[in-house]
Amino acid sequence: MAAQRMLTVTGAEAVTPRMRRIAFAGDVAGFMRDDQMHLRLMVPVAGGGIAPRKYTVRRFDAAAGRIEIDFALHDEPGPGAAWGAAARPGDRIAAIGPGGGGFTAAPWCLLLGDEAGLPAIGRIVEGLAPGVRATALIEVDGPADEQAFDVGADAAIRWLHRNGAAAGTTDLLLRGLRDIAFPADPAEISVWAGVEHQAFHAIRDHLRDDLGLPRACHTVVAYWRRDSAQRSLAASLAGLGRRLFGAQAEG
Ligand SMILES: Cc1cc2nc3c(=O)[nH]c(=O)nc-3n(C[C@H](O)[C@H](O)[C@H](O)COP(=O)(O)OP(=O)(O)OC[C@H]3O[C@@H](n4cnc5c(N)ncnc54)[C@H](O)[C@@H]3O)c2cc1C
Repeated sequence: MAAQRMLTVTGAEAVTPRMRRIAFAGDVAGFMRDDQMHLRLMVPVAGGGIAPRKYTVRRFDAAAGRIEIDFALHDEPGPGAAWGAAARPGDRIAAIGPGGGGFTAAPWCLLLGDEAGLPAIGRIVEGLAPGVRATALIEVDGPADEQAFDVGADAAIRWLHRNGAAAGTTDLLLRGLRDIAFPADPAEISVWAGVEHQAFHAIRDHLRDDLGLPRACHTVVAYWRRDSAQRSLAASLAGLGRRLFGAQAEG
């Protein structure tokens, strides 16, 4: 099991109204890796206990001994978003990792994400070598959520706006993906997506079944699940029912 390291919050700033960047110092050196971009934060849960939540190291500065994580602030915050919204300099939190892999570039790259995948996309496009052709499709609520990236590669960033629809309820990314013209040679292609669970299925199925892309040239990951709080509450209630009433609660 990966080591647990203690991090200390050293700063916080709003990147956009719904994205908060937290800077950490402390035992951060192990999280400065391009082949493992993510970590798990052990966030406190209301009422007691802790829960692991996965986050991307958006940027790191080895000389300054600092890593930064961007927290999407969503409407029904769970423990992760609540911690990210409230973190203040001096706060301490345990982190586990690194993990989750990195990004393997190809001459032609396509990146897809919503607010949860946006930090990884920012990191990836800012790390692409000159000459790489990249397109990013990023779903956010509206123009206020768009970010500027420090991009050296030939990158086209397309912002797709939900315009008030709830996150995880649209097919904007899938429709955007369907409009993309891919190179003929899969060896030239690298596709990466970090999205909600249903979008994950739709995007992965389109890449594999409709376009016939080999698995080696795409990585599609479910970054979060809409209504996961209700789902875990329902699972807890079902478990409680089973303990109280035995098999009757199964029906
Ligand atoms: C490898 C990896 C890297 C990630 N990196 C980042 C990152 O850098 N920054 C980041 O903000 N997130 C990131 N995520 C997503 C983050 O881990 C999840 O969004 C996480 O579930 C949020 O935890 P929570 O405790 O706030 O919400 P949960 O307890 O999971 O859910 C509570 C409620 O919030 C809703 N919800 C959860 N996430 C979102 C969302 N993104 N938008 C809208 N509603 C949501 C759920 O549907 C549920 O109703 C990453 C996920 C993975 C797998």
